[in-house]
Amino acid sequence: MSIFWNQRIKALDPYVPGEQPRDRNFIKLNTNENPYPPSPRAVEAMERILKEEKGSGLRLYPDPLCTEFREAVAEAYAVKPEEVFPGNGSDEVLAFAFGAFFESSGGTAACFNHGVLPENDKRLPVFFPDITYSFYSVYARLWEVPYKTIPLAEDFSIDLTAYQNAGGVIIPNPNAPTGNALPADDLLPLAQSLEKNGRVLIVDEAYTAFGGQSIVPRITDHPNLLTVHTLSKSASLAGLRVGFAIGNAPLVKGLFRIRDSFNSYTMDRLALAGGAAAVLDKSYYDKINRRVMATRERSAAALLAMGFVVIPSKANFLFVSFPAISGETLFHALRDRGILVRHFNKPRLTNYLRVSIGTDKDMDIFLSACKAIVKEKG
Ligand SMILES: *Cc1c(COP(=O)(O)O)cnc(C)c1O
Repeated sequence: MSIFWNQRIKALDPYVPGEQPRDRNFIKLNTNENPYPPSPRAVEAMERILKEEKGSGLRLYPDPLCTEFREAVAEAYAVKPEEVFPGNGSDEVLAFAFGAFFESSGGTAACFNHGVLPENDKRLPVFFPDITYSFYSVYARLWEVPYKTIPLAEDFSIDLTAYQNAGGVIIPNPNAPTGNALPADDLLPLAQSLEKNGRVLIVDEAYTAFGGQSIVPRITDHPNLLTVHTLSKSASLAGLRVGFAIGNAPLVKGLFRIRDSFNSYTMDRLALAGGAAAVLDKSYYDKINRRVMATRERSAAALLAMGFVVIPSKANFLFVSFPAISGETLFHALRDRGILVRHFNKPRLTNYLRVSIGTDKDMDIFLSACKAIVKEKG
């Protein structure tokens, strides 16, 4: 706390990203990065910018409309460029979407979880699952958007009937950190009922490329449907910071209005060129992500055989627990063996670990460590 902080920053509850260790060489299975390198075409596109006239193009501001990048996304997803909103990682796109489409309470960062709205209050809170990407509540607080979290079922699945009458809904499909996925079309009745009330449904497709179903082909019929995508996980470019939204042109225009009230150049020239080449190199990414999925299935089977509980996953991570060992004990035992995974110290999650899928070699080391820990402590 500082006496110089205003009320707004005092009320924030910032996101804490997974550890990026700098001192020790861990097997890093804690932030869902892709274990394989990015597309060689993406790397070449960026090298070209650095080499051409010794990078002199960097003197100039990038294209604020991100034309080539949006055309590349449009081609890859069979949509129109005006249906694509580009950003500095999907976290930024999500932050803008909260600001653009969810109504703020105007003054107090209210969470209406445990009670009723104040009397005479006509505002509706935004709904999202109680167990989901923890950045959503952070954005809600930043923008002073009232929100309500809807509990996942006992098996961590999402009960969509509980999401009616919301001021807007955001759902990741597959969900994080559980990896659970819904058939994309299951979300359409919700999109329709929200549309009647003039509300937006955001579907975060950060992990869809690992075996989930994309709802992008449905945007044409649903003007209130916004999908959000990232190159951080499925395109091995977490370090480049590229994300985008796909939705009807008026939604995209709304996002540009927010962006241009903040920073017109959120994507730099390297990110624009590398990102465009990456989204077009589908065959390369299909190949490496099929490998990630095969490693996931093999690792899940091995963990189940050891007695772990493994939530069925369509993402590039597994959400696992071992009945006789606490999540925290497991986390530290793995860390002591040089393996970093993610532990969330929250009521329903504390016995679980989220394990990103690494290379086959990484996972073999992880699986042997699990075997040893279970033998010692289980
Ligand atoms: C990783 C992740 C993001 C953020 O991705 P960036 O593009 O790296 O900002 C968004 N949503 C979910 C559900 C994620 O897991």
